[in-house]
Amino acid sequence: MPSYKAPVEDYLFLLNDVFQVGAHVDLPGYSDLSPQILEATLTEAAKLCEQVLTPLNRVGDMEGCTRHDDGSVTTPKGFKEAYQQFCDGGWGSISFPSEFGGQGLPAVLSGVVTEFLAGSNLAFWMYPGLTQGAVAALLDHGSPEQKATYLPNMIASKWTGTMNLTEAHCGTDLGMLRTKAKPQPDGTHRITGTKIFISAGEHDLAENIVHLVLARIEGAPAGVKGISLFVVPKFLPKADGTLGARNSVSCGSIEHKMGIHGNCTCVMNFDNATGWLVGGENRGLNAMFTMMNHSRLGVGTHGVGLSDVAYQNAAAYAKDRLQGRSMSGVKFPDKPADPLIVHPDVRRMLMIMRATTEAARALVVWTGLRYDIATRAADAKARDQAEDHMGLMTPVIKGVCTDIGLVSTVLAQQIWGGHGYIAENGIEQFVRDARVNEIYEGSNGIQALDLVGRKLGMNGGRAVQAFFSEVDAYLKAQAQVEGMAAYVNPVLESFRHLQLATQWIAKNAASNRDHAGAGSYDYMNLFGLVALGYMWCRMVEVARAKLAKLGTASDRHLSAKLVTARFFVERLLPETSAQLGRIKSGADSMMSLPAEAF
Ligand SMILES: Cc1cc2nc3c(=O)[nH]c(=O)nc-3n(C[C@H](O)[C@H](O)[C@H](O)COP(=O)(O)OP(=O)(O)OC[C@H]3O[C@@H](n4cnc5c(N)ncnc54)[C@H](O)[C@@H]3O)c2cc1C
Repeated sequence: MPSYKAPVEDYLFLLNDVFQVGAHVDLPGYSDLSPQILEATLTEAAKLCEQVLTPLNRVGDMEGCTRHDDGSVTTPKGFKEAYQQFCDGGWGSISFPSEFGGQGLPAVLSGVVTEFLAGSNLAFWMYPGLTQGAVAALLDHGSPEQKATYLPNMIASKWTGTMNLTEAHCGTDLGMLRTKAKPQPDGTHRITGTKIFISAGEHDLAENIVHLVLARIEGAPAGVKGISLFVVPKFLPKADGTLGARNSVSCGSIEHKMGIHGNCTCVMNFDNATGWLVGGENRGLNAMFTMMNHSRLGVGTHGVGLSDVAYQNAAAYAKDRLQGRSMSGVKFPDKPADPLIVHPDVRRMLMIMRATTEAARALVVWTGLRYDIATRAADAKARDQAEDHMGLMTPVIKGVCTDIGLVSTVLAQQIWGGHGYIAENGIEQFVRDARVNEIYEGSNGIQALDLVGRKLGMNGGRAVQAFFSEVDAYLKAQAQVEGMAAYVNPVLESFRHLQLATQWIAKNAASNRDHAGAGSYDYMNLFGLVALGYMWCRMVEVARAKLAKLGTASDRHLSAKLVTARFFVERLLPETSAQLGRIKSGADSMMSLPAEAF
């Protein structure tokens, strides 16, 4: 059975040493974050994830959710009790404002806990996980009355949240959605329509479920300009905050799907359900984007969590499983064979997993810190700069980190050989669970288009220029530092590829937009490799400084950072040259065949 150990040590290194969160005392919530509190909090979160949620991961996969004739849903055995422990620990309220019962701690901390939760049990985590994005949307766009009614219960995890966008005929292209909203004299709306694939749409974990629903008000314009957002609770809250009548929203069926079986993916029927407009009329997509952006960063973090748990179980197996002898001479003569870990090709797979997971984790922390600056800093310029960073990095984190998640889970399965294909060992579940991260919250192809088509040009390219300046200045300075060239020079070379690719797209996409679309996926991955390479340099810089301080004493964690960084720059960064080549080949070979030829 797979096991999971939350990466507390790695996070303490990132938070305390690399990104020095303690230095941000000017940001609300950060002054409470001493290294001791940080370690204690992460250790507690780790306990819940390792001891309670990990054993339930396989239970959820085997049992799935059950819909009853009345539309109610039972979650897998043990989920309810685990959810209570989640609530009691306050894990759903970490970074939300104390005004609504939150703990007011940094969002970067709740990002850490997200990785632990996703790594231990993604299907379970998605119930409270979606609530996080729904809270963010209501905080930004809800009326004072809506905030007072919903936020305290959602932040306390007594009520959960959902996002209802997708309909059978429209997923990516939300402009086609048909769910209707009919205005009522009392100011409410009657919502009618069917949504599909709604995660955590119905369950037995919380008292109430707060659906955030995109719908078109009668007479509104066609397309995305006529979409509004509504809050549609399962039970209508009474004026005193207690639960009132059942609203006419119900789970019509549960989807049978490839993975995350423990999470209930529902067809939701809205049958003249009572809803309240959130934000302005026809401004629904704007409001929903708050939730989507929040969730996209979360889903990227899920990729990191699954990548890590897959790595851990592959590494343990590679040390245990005896097959063949080392090519460079027998390593364990007392055993009938050497363990898999002696074989370079097995090492190749383990090192890919390790090198991408650790850098992706750093990228998420770095961006989480910027999220806190964007939402909490007193200085408007600092907020704007951090906001730019968030906009640019959101598609990169969502797309690249979820791809890393799938690659790692497949590599773990490969290391487990045939045993990785057999369900009872639990490794193939990681592959099935990781797959959806690339699909939902805007497929990864759409993330790539968002990066190339929107984010690069936003505000005259301000965000990408700021990122390039930061990376350029850092790498050039570090290239002068003795011992850093081996790490920095390959990243500088890949950074040059990224700059050339950016210029090529800017020049050629104006005459043919398909050139941008044809290169967008490679561009996103090229961008990601440079960002991860930059993260590796920052980690190496700090690890070397700490090792120097230790004198002759070595440190397993820090020394391993240097080796893993070398693997990353030598083995993974060369891909950027191929990515640049593919981008520059443009759209012609991709678009020339007529549709009938396929
Ligand atoms: C398990 C699961 C849970 C989900 N949970 C939720 C949820 O809670 N709430 C919710 O609202 N939805 C949810 N979804 C829906 C999910 O967000 C959509 O499946 C996703 O957005 C893609 O939409 P689609 O499936 O209709 O694919 P389509 O939009 O049909 O896209 C199919 C493919 O075509 C590509 N494509 C589409 N348009 C373009 C374009 N313009 N340019 C280039 N490529 C394009 C896409 O990248 C994709 O690869 C969930 C889905 C799953 C499987």
